Amino acid sequence: MQFAGISFKTTEFAPTFTIDSVSVDNFSCTFYYSNDTLILYPNSTIQPYSLFDVSISYHGNATSGGEYRGLTNTYSSDYNQYITWTLSESFHLKEWLPCKQDLTDRLDSAWIFITVDSTCKAGSEGKLTAIVPLSNGKVRYEWKERHPIVYYLLSIAVGKYAEYNFNVHIPGLSDSLFVMNYIYKDPQCLLDNKADIERTADFLRIYSDKFGMYPFADEKYGHCQVPLGGGMEHQTMTSLGYFIHWLVAHEMAHMWFGDHITCANWQDIWINEGFASYGEYVILQNYFDQQTADITMRHFQFRGRIEPEGSIYVPFEIAWDENRIFNGNLSYKKGAALIHMIRYLCDDDSIFFYGLKQLQNIYADSVLTGADVRNLFEAITGKDFHALFDQYYYGKGYPIYNIRWFQDSTQTGWGDLSIQIEQRGSSADNNLFTIPLPFELFKQQQVETIKLTPSQNIQTFTIQTNGLKIDSIHFDP
Ligand SMILES: [Zn+2]
Repeated sequence: MQFAGISFKTTEFAPTFTIDSVSVDNFSCTFYYSNDTLILYPNSTIQPYSLFDVSISYHGNATSGGEYRGLTNTYSSDYNQYITWTLSESFHLKEWLPCKQDLTDRLDSAWIFITVDSTCKAGSEGKLTAIVPLSNGKVRYEWKERHPIVYYLLSIAVGKYAEYNFNVHIPGLSDSLFVMNYIYKDPQCLLDNKADIERTADFLRIYSDKFGMYPFADEKYGHCQVPLGGGMEHQTMTSLGYFIHWLVAHEMAHMWFGDHITCANWQDIWINEGFASYGEYVILQNYFDQQTADITMRHFQFRGRIEPEGSIYVPFEIAWDENRIFNGNLSYKKGAALIHMIRYLCDDDSIFFYGLKQLQNIYADSVLTGADVRNLFEAITGKDFHALFDQYYYGKGYPIYNIRWFQDSTQTGWGDLSIQIEQRGSSADNNLFTIPLPFELFKQQQVETIKLTPSQNIQTFTIQTNGLKIDSIHFDP
């Protein structure tokens, strides 16, 4: 499609402000402002593909788009602090900034300048290039994010913060990575959280090894403490309620999955939340221990089973509903369990993590879907991942198995082993699961692992045993 020229420019903006002036290319212009829409009518037609400047001055009080959505000032009873901060995912940047809320159209960079009382600090994305003293006891924090950024990852957090900063050395990075933390000013806060904050260094090293180099290493990684019962992965500056390891790990993993590469639409929020949740598992496995990681994975699987009619992929009809987009059981926990199944089907950790790095390379500063992940793993393994995605990503629920086994004794020893797998889906809409199932066979001091791939709802497999007696079998070890 070709446009002769642009005679108007539409932005999204909550209708709660007073707009003082609007200009395009330094000429003031008329505008229409109502119902979350701000339309500008420049004096002259803007030619296609040309750059133009828009300046919008406004004032007023932001109204929240819901609990902790948009711009809020909230109190933390933990350390008696008031913090002004923003949370704009999924559709709430417009509550405080005129914008275009489109996942596929990244800002190529962002300068975020925040004027605050000199007793406060203001955190945001990218590099802090200056703190400029102003009159009347004010200072201006000048943040510059030079990496492309998705609209909802813009943020500010303002409070009477203390700072706890350090440098991290990451193998493969010529310079050190700057890690900064704006934490509540109460000295007890640092005492309580210092050890957890310092784990950040190890987590950054582990992820850089497993997912590829930290994508914003030339800027920083940081946390702004805010009164939030969780965290939000604002690019290079996570907003965080507390420093418990799994939450730090989750939000940090988003720098790779969510920020550097982003879901192409909200139906594929798994790209963000499934992978960030899997990051928690990766940290448990590599920083803590396998036993704790196993317990967590079983918990993820349990949480997925709470939703017998749910799919990881968000159905189109409710892709506007933030409660469904951020459903912890489906988008997060079951999503992480699916990634564990991708790893299982790769059957080689080096291939699996190579795939994750390839996602970072191919989709850098861009968007992707679940289908893109499927296609990439098919390309690098030569295996078919369609069944996995059809059944566990797009499909509802989970399989329920009823497994029997028997082995006859014969005159010459023990006969073949028969394993009957009977299955149904928790949802009638998704009734046959055809992913290879692992079994351990215990026979006379030996353990053999086999995989059986069902293609019917009731199926009997015959396994040769060379006359050995099977003492027991263990499904999904
Ligand atoms: Zn998350």
